[in-house]
Amino acid sequence: MDISQILDPLNKAQRQAVCSEAQNTLVLAGAGSGKTRVLVHRIAWLVQVENVSPYSIMAVTFTNKAAAEMRFRIENLLKTPLRNMWVGTFHGLAHRLLRAHWKDAKLVENFQIIDSDDQLRLLKRIMKEMGIDDKQHPPREVQWFINDCKDNGKRSQQLNPADFRGREFLLDIYYRYEELCQRTGLVDFAELLLRAHELWLKQPHVLKHYQQRFSHILVDEFQDTNTIQYAWLKVLSGNNLPQTNIHTFVVGDDDQSIYGWRGAKIEHIREFCHDFNAGASAEKAAETIKLEQNYRSTGNILQAANAVIANNTERLGKELWTEDSEGELLQIYRAFNEIDEAAYVAGQIEKWVDKGGKRSDIAILYRSNAQSQPHEYELVKRGIPYRVYGGLRFYERAEVKDALAYMRLAANYQDDAAFERIINTPARGIGLRTVEIIRAAAKNNEQFLWQAVQELIENKQLSARAATAVQKFIYLIEEMDCSKKGDHFTLVEQVAHILELSQLKQFHGRENTERAQAKVENLQELINAVKRFDDEGDPLLEAVKESAELNDAEQQVLTNPMSEFLAHAALEAGEGQADEWEECVQLMSLHSAKGLEFELVFLTGVEQGLFPHKNALQDYVGGKLEEERRLCYVGITRARQQLHLTHAESRTMYGRNEMALPSQFLSEIPASLVSEVRAVNNNFSSFDSFSNNNSSFSSSYASPGGSADDRAEGEISIGQRVKHKKFGEGIVIDKEGSGARARVQVNFDYEGTKWLMLSIAKLV
Ligand code: ATP
Ligand code: MG
Repeated sequence: MDISQILDPLNKAQRQAVCSEAQNTLVLAGAGSGKTRVLVHRIAWLVQVENVSPYSIMAVTFTNKAAAEMRFRIENLLKTPLRNMWVGTFHGLAHRLLRAHWKDAKLVENFQIIDSDDQLRLLKRIMKEMGIDDKQHPPREVQWFINDCKDNGKRSQQLNPADFRGREFLLDIYYRYEELCQRTGLVDFAELLLRAHELWLKQPHVLKHYQQRFSHILVDEFQDTNTIQYAWLKVLSGNNLPQTNIHTFVVGDDDQSIYGWRGAKIEHIREFCHDFNAGASAEKAAETIKLEQNYRSTGNILQAANAVIANNTERLGKELWTEDSEGELLQIYRAFNEIDEAAYVAGQIEKWVDKGGKRSDIAILYRSNAQSQPHEYELVKRGIPYRVYGGLRFYERAEVKDALAYMRLAANYQDDAAFERIINTPARGIGLRTVEIIRAAAKNNEQFLWQAVQELIENKQLSARAATAVQKFIYLIEEMDCSKKGDHFTLVEQVAHILELSQLKQFHGRENTERAQAKVENLQELINAVKRFDDEGDPLLEAVKESAELNDAEQQVLTNPMSEFLAHAALEAGEGQADEWEECVQLMSLHSAKGLEFELVFLTGVEQGLFPHKNALQDYVGGKLEEERRLCYVGITRARQQLHLTHAESRTMYGRNEMALPSQFLSEIPASLVSEVRAVNNNFSSFDSFSNNNSSFSSSYASPGGSADDRAEGEISIGQRVKHKKFGEGIVIDKEGSGARARVQVNFDYEGTKWLMLSIAKLV
């Protein structure tokens, strides 16, 4: 193969990036400018031209799906499989490291990954044991606190109690949670990263090994790395050592940083050049390359994206241009409600398909997963095949998690989280009281639930009935554990065996409903998933196995198919059903659309309070609103040919009907780029229903009018003190809309916050 295949499909700036000789390279570029393409071609270049062994390359992507795609593209370019190259997400790579070095990482050999549900369950249990009221201190907040600490590299012991006056219980819970996980061999998602980072810091020989192994580390979507990921990279790249030989190559876009709420730090992209050149000599130091030509979208779509993002203040600044034609105007559709919105979207999809367009080129995007439901309903009604990403993914469904819990407990009796999940699922007469007794005994004797239960039976500390039921459960799990019997079951046989014994199918399928049927099908599908896993394996795992340095024990863990499958399921649960690619419409949240592109995109629910999200509207510092705007930029720039933005005047979500105003982002798109499609006014019955709902401004809403961009300034401003005849005095904390639709949010001294229509409220 010659070099031209690698370099020809690139422009000058992209080529410069691919061939960069700097020790550390930052490619800072807008959406659709070819960052991911550059990363792929760079790896091909390294292998083909610079003779770097794939063994010495590590590439980090944002999802497992992106990792698979990247591997596929590189192998396509090079026309050769690259089995021993490490490509994966931060979590996936950290997991592999910990599996291979479990001893050095102070973990048990068959540690299990727990998801956020399991984590919450454990925290609830700990809080209960400590007598902490979960009404007053919601476990979710505690969970958020712990994950945030971990994402910032802090263990409970490293926190300063002085900072927690009056909230000492948080430290206590965190400490007990760490202890419980350590004792029972459980690792949550944040722990994977923190543990892997500590592995570098505490085991210099492991770090040294990988520093010698890797010569190139490449990271996509760099703008969304969090503190611990950044630190992990920094240490691995050996930037603290003058003689370091590792090259880092990161690509990102500050305008697409959308995970601030989960701890990502946009600053990393700004600090990279400074942080990653400590050891390098001047000519080898960090280089920044900007790409500004967009190859994805039409001129109009791109201009709209540029105009919206220009409203953010915190930017590194770059403007995208394209050689492509202007293309069609963007369509804005004002719907009566979410049902009308979904009908519009489905109608447009039918038109597209009638003209010979592909369904897989279409995406329906939304801010919250709950918005998918009306679209699903409409698509089913019209017989349009679709796939939803996010929401409840396969491995996160209750029945699948039940089955996995049986597999986990059979593989590891110390897995308390799994034990709790299934002790009485399906119901076998083990009541809450018995479970409490078991928990208490485990706690007092510092045992696993599994051990505690056996002692309780032995010492006759359970009622005869409870003891029999519990004993049966123990036998059941032991029977599931195939390793004991010396049988040589394949992985698929093991899973089928466990499923059969668990009676989960009978349990979940006992009702004669479609939902029950779907659950049974999911359990059946689990066997198929195991088969696929067994056939295809996990490419990253293969790569680890080929590392010669693993000792026998380590090799063995990596070749225990059950542990492997369980870890795979836990990691996949983070994103789900990506494998088959049917010819169907894609539905997903804006967050999961990152990095993807589609010919036809619907950005739906573009309403104030929904998008931007209401939490961002209450954030006076403005950081959250800017993150919402970046999310909007991500959404717009997913579209290649056609973009429709839709908003509804009223929306029922979570069982509540609320009026909605067009999003401020709509008004940021220049009018010359859009054509507004209005709902035809033949649907007044739906307006009538508005006057009966509990919305505070229903009566004045019956005349649609006033476009998104005529937001006039009223006399009332945020921060002003006002008086209302009934509610008394308060402070204006938010404001939206204009003319007859203008409304303000007031925080009343005695009545709390309320939204009021200015035209009705007569504020003084
Ligand atoms: P995002 O910020 O959304 O992740 P990106 O910067 O990673 O986008 P890519 O996905 O790599 O952009 O590229 C966008 C599209 O442009 C892809 O379809 C890609 O194949 C195409 N593309 C990139 N560079 C070129 C080029 N030099 N010539 C032709 N097409 C290109
Ligand atoms: Mg990309």
